Amino acid sequence: MSAIKAIRGMNDILPEETKLWQYLETNIRSLVSRYGYQEIRTPVLERTQLFSRSIGEATDIVEKEMYCFLDRNDESLSLRPEGTAGVVRAGIERGLLYNQEQRLWYLDSLFRYEKPQKGRYRQFHQFGVEVFGLPGPDVDVEVILMTARLWKMLGISEYVELHINSLGSQQDRAIYREKLLEYFDKHKEELDDDSLRRLTTNPLRILDSKNPQMQSLIQQAPKLLDCISDESKAHFEKLCSLLTMADIPYTINTRLVRGLDYYNLTVFEWMTSELGSQGTICGGGRYDLLVSQLGGQTTPAVGFGMGMERVILMLQKMELQQQLSSPIDVYLITQGDKADSRKMLLSEEIRNRLPDLKLLMHAGGGNFKKQIKKADKSGASWAMIFAEDELDQQSVSIKPLRENLAQISVPLSELEQWYHENFQ
Ligand code: ATP
Ligand code: MG
Repeated sequence: MSAIKAIRGMNDILPEETKLWQYLETNIRSLVSRYGYQEIRTPVLERTQLFSRSIGEATDIVEKEMYCFLDRNDESLSLRPEGTAGVVRAGIERGLLYNQEQRLWYLDSLFRYEKPQKGRYRQFHQFGVEVFGLPGPDVDVEVILMTARLWKMLGISEYVELHINSLGSQQDRAIYREKLLEYFDKHKEELDDDSLRRLTTNPLRILDSKNPQMQSLIQQAPKLLDCISDESKAHFEKLCSLLTMADIPYTINTRLVRGLDYYNLTVFEWMTSELGSQGTICGGGRYDLLVSQLGGQTTPAVGFGMGMERVILMLQKMELQQQLSSPIDVYLITQGDKADSRKMLLSEEIRNRLPDLKLLMHAGGGNFKKQIKKADKSGASWAMIFAEDELDQQSVSIKPLRENLAQISVPLSELEQWYHENFQ
């Protein structure tokens, strides 16, 4: 019988890689707690309508990237393609938003039917934060500072660059839309098929085109930043000055429009040149209209989503893997039947007494040589040898596997002392 394969674009993350994921996740958990953010978990499935109403009908995500299906009740459901809509839905439904401030974070699996390639998958993961009830720009800067701190913690600051822009208000964009339509209409013959379609549905999206042939046309298009109101401009200028004050370098990128419709005012992306065309590792912005658009009271909000896979790719490129600690400290092996039959109890006793020690007990029999080989292969720093003749003496032998040091005998009663000498 032929073996069943995984679905295209859906990755298995194997033990060799989960080490790196855990390293990233540990840093993220430490980051959010240092900023006082709280975790929220929402379902992986939502009504399709939630996404079409929030992300926008004429966006790539809703037009062609969603995993939609009818359930047994003929209701249209979708695997979430992004995190914000679900969090806003939950916030409204559970009464977290009205007249309140919330600083939330999540780490979710997301699903988009895209062409799989390096840094682009059909199931991927995002770490995201969403802040509600605060109009900014101070919190806009706070969430940007959080991301900047994370790059520092991970040692990748020098490989990433912050791009910011302002999308102005809804009114600003309506005025800009007309200007843009007029411009692209004049250059209709230079537009590719995708952009021609966007001309009637969502002309701002044309600015986001990755087609090299379109770039000079886009470059010369009118700029949204030149058309925004004084109020929007003041928000943006404050944002820029706060970033400068915090010593965060940024580039103003007037073409930055983001792939989702709900943003206004501040938008930002962190880009890297290390990952080819999948160069955006984190994107976010303000979405002051989304809560009311989804049926809640108007609530200012700002957030971002960070692509975990892309950050992992960067960490892999830096060959950080070698610096990560081994998942095993001690591999316990035995010599003789009597010792073998007691290894389980001894392992449990050691785990009781040394809760931070990572101990792997040898199983499956085999002679001493075979066991030592396995201990070495496990990556453990020490082999703990429990031998027949040590049963009465109540001691074990400890053999360093990575350093050229002598094997020592340690009385069981002194294990704590041995641990403190070698681990702290
Ligand atoms: P892109 O322009 O690369 O398609 P996007 O604008 O669709 O990105 P967002 O929806 O803003 O991306 O999601 C935020 C982040 O999530 C991206 O910056 C990226 O790091 C990551 N991301 C988005 N789509 C994928 C995917 N299919 N596979 C892996 N990571 C992804
Ligand atoms: Mg995309």
